Amino acid sequence: MTLRHWIPTAVLILATGCSTAQEPEIKPAIDWSEKLTDEQFRILRQCGTEPPFTGAFWDHHEDGVYCCAGCSQALFDSHDKYDSGSGWPSFFEVLAEKAITTRTDYKLGYPRTELLCSACDGHLGHVFGDGPEPTGLRYCINSASLAFVPRDSAQVVREIPKIVD
Ligand SMILES: [Zn+2]
Repeated sequence: MTLRHWIPTAVLILATGCSTAQEPEIKPAIDWSEKLTDEQFRILRQCGTEPPFTGAFWDHHEDGVYCCAGCSQALFDSHDKYDSGSGWPSFFEVLAEKAITTRTDYKLGYPRTELLCSACDGHLGHVFGDGPEPTGLRYCINSASLAFVPRDSAQVVREIPKIVD
């Protein structure tokens, strides 16, 4: 291919990259430091961790749904919460697999599976393989990453189907 041919091809690729079919979802810029408390910002946006036995939900037993404190996406159902003894809110299942994304975290020198809200990329906690049946998983979540919605108070939350992908 001569240079003369190469240039129009490159232009065509650039133009195609801007087509609507390939356009990635653009998330609006959010000033998280204004929207969140200092503790929520440190944990959700800077991958922090709250000390065990200190958060609002490690010993919380009401019936409802736990949503992302950053964007309100529903993440966990109180039916799937259990007392792991860890001092952090623990669940053996997520409300919908699509609500969570994962990545490998080496912060402690060994690999752990970090959990993030799929809608806002907020840090939630980690998942471990020492949970109870039926999943054998322990979703270990910071209280500061969660907002609780009582089941009877929000029709929209009640209608969220439990999806297992
Ligand atoms: Zn979120």
